[in-house]
Amino acid sequence: MTVDQSKPERGTQLVVFGSIALLAGIFVLTVAAYMACREWALMSSAAVLSTGAIAFVAAVLALSFFGAQHIRVLAQLGLSDPLTNLPNRRALHADLREELGNRREVALALLDLDGFKLVNDHYGHLVGDATIRKIARVLAEITDKEAKIYRLGGDEYAMMIAGEVAGTLLEGLSRRVIDRMANPIIVDDHRLSLGVSIGLVRCPADGDLGSSELLRQADVALSVSKRGGKMRCTWFNRAFDQSREEVKKLDDDLRVALSNDEFRVHYQPLVNSQSRRVVAVESLLRWERPDGKQVGPNVFIPVAEQSGLINAIGLWVIRQACRDALGWSKITLSINISAAQLRNPEFPVQLGHILEETGFDPERLELEITETCLVLDPVVAERSLAVIRSFGVRIALDDFGTGYASIGFLRQFRFEKLKLDRSLVVQASEDAGSRAMMLSSIAVARAMEMGVTAEGVETQEQADMMRAAGCDQIQGWLYFKALPAEEISQHLGKPVLAASDREKSRESRVA
Ligand code: C2E
Ligand code: MG
Ligand code: MG
Repeated sequence: MTVDQSKPERGTQLVVFGSIALLAGIFVLTVAAYMACREWALMSSAAVLSTGAIAFVAAVLALSFFGAQHIRVLAQLGLSDPLTNLPNRRALHADLREELGNRREVALALLDLDGFKLVNDHYGHLVGDATIRKIARVLAEITDKEAKIYRLGGDEYAMMIAGEVAGTLLEGLSRRVIDRMANPIIVDDHRLSLGVSIGLVRCPADGDLGSSELLRQADVALSVSKRGGKMRCTWFNRAFDQSREEVKKLDDDLRVALSNDEFRVHYQPLVNSQSRRVVAVESLLRWERPDGKQVGPNVFIPVAEQSGLINAIGLWVIRQACRDALGWSKITLSINISAAQLRNPEFPVQLGHILEETGFDPERLELEITETCLVLDPVVAERSLAVIRSFGVRIALDDFGTGYASIGFLRQFRFEKLKLDRSLVVQASEDAGSRAMMLSSIAVARAMEMGVTAEGVETQEQADMMRAAGCDQIQGWLYFKALPAEEISQHLGKPVLAASDREKSRESRVA
């Protein structure tokens, strides 16, 4: 958060100018009264001068008292967050500088709420503000003055402890905060499921870190917690900085890979749960480095998303996939789209051009997007989706079950299809609670006339369960892994066997 530092300064200037004006006024009045007395001899001029002097001194004393108080209040305002009354980022810097100067161990935790943006989007800013205040109270309760807490802005808070074993104490508190946040937070009758990610850093008593460096390191640790799956706390580690350099190197390599044609698109078939025929394929990007090493999309796509290179890579994938799939008549082509692509206002037009250029039927195209695409900028996303849909392209919500998507969210974006994430499929085959959640997700999707695909189906039992639960398409290694384009045609138009059965029948034919 950037604190508006100009306000206290402006207030202080007003106090100073006001005081000078008042004192000058008293001075002018006294001189005028003195002159009048001399002229008309109303009162002794000595009496006028002493009254004026007393008024002047009294005004100076009163002004210095109230002025000092006012300046103190204004300074306080500049150091505290108006929404929560907690000290703010400036105050944290000041406290860190002081504690680090005292040569004591200092430990700092940066906390960022998971899913807060959804609260703002779904319930409005008033509930959002109330949530921020509520979390401040929760933190105060848990830390119980053991740590000093701060609000840094948005949904970011900090906790700081100085003194012996500060790091150990702060880690204990951080774990208690995570445990507490695993339970819903009640705000204005809403039960909000929020999470928290925490980055921790400590400077030993003989360390020589400045406050900005300490905050930067905590921030890096926080982003590792977020990337690692949220609801966790991570201590800063020097290796994190090194991996930043690796990220930069990976990004440079990706640029070269795009111009050197090192990417390939593979296709994983989706099978109709009843007819057991291939009804769609999902394009999955593959990168083989010149040294023959394969790099998975989960590694390089986030890097390309950060640098913006995903826009160029994503268009390359769409063009390539549309060309490959031209000949696979009747089946749907599903393409993954990143949040950064959807945020690019030119994306719908670029997609339209590729459809025109390749002659691919838009009604056979489906774009897979994840919840983050929509949460980050719902207004732009909604506008882009409307244009994309106007071409006849369908939209599927990918990885359903891993985020916070609510019924309101599903209704707002009216997806044509839900793809149940592999984690939900696996859990549903293991415990009754997850099975009930999976069944209710399918019921909601059905009620909203969405298709449902189960992802990551690896066993016959999982396939049977998902079929019985009402999924209309099944995707997973039980049937197929992602295949090169030239292997797809042979699987179209006939019922599919499980991969293991296919292998057996191939072996028996060879024998
Ligand atoms: P996704 O879109 O959810 O794709 C499904 C992922 O699950 C794929 O991983 C697929 O190979 C894997 N999978 C499929 N069936 C099974 C199974 O039975 N068991 C297991 N364990 N895994 C299975 P992959 O290819 O590594 O892709 C990972 C993610 O990378 C994709 O998740 C997608 O989010 C992203 N991605 C892939 N290609 C692209 C692309 O062209 N553009 C964008 N933006 N993202 C892509
Ligand atoms: Mg996908
Ligand atoms: Mg998925």
